[in-house]
Amino acid sequence: MSDYNWCHGTNCHTNQTQSRVRGSGDNKVLRTIKIKQGRYNGYQNGIWDYFCNQSCLMDYIRTHIQSIVAIAPRRKALETPIKVEKEKYESYRYEWYGNDSKRVPYQATRTTIKNSS
Ligand SMILES: [Zn+2]
Repeated sequence: MSDYNWCHGTNCHTNQTQSRVRGSGDNKVLRTIKIKQGRYNGYQNGIWDYFCNQSCLMDYIRTHIQSIVAIAPRRKALETPIKVEKEKYESYRYEWYGNDSKRVPYQATRTTIKNSS
């Protein structure tokens, strides 16, 4: 197995950077970036072993989105069971009279989502 991948970005070879220039004399080209595998130690499931940067990743996703979602389609909504806790607490609001204000207490409600497990 090769230790390198070519960047999978669909437009990688068109970006005008010095790091992409190859060839000599009048035969110069912009070449797809070569990526050393494991360069970020598997960070984000090794996604950066295939893309030189976020722009190339997004180009690839835009080009292949229909094929990508066909691999694992989401046909219905997923749900996570939760408990919703409502609690009342004392809060304050400010009532203004011209340049003057008064702090007025009122009963507020706080809603907290808890994991059910
Ligand atoms: Zn690239």
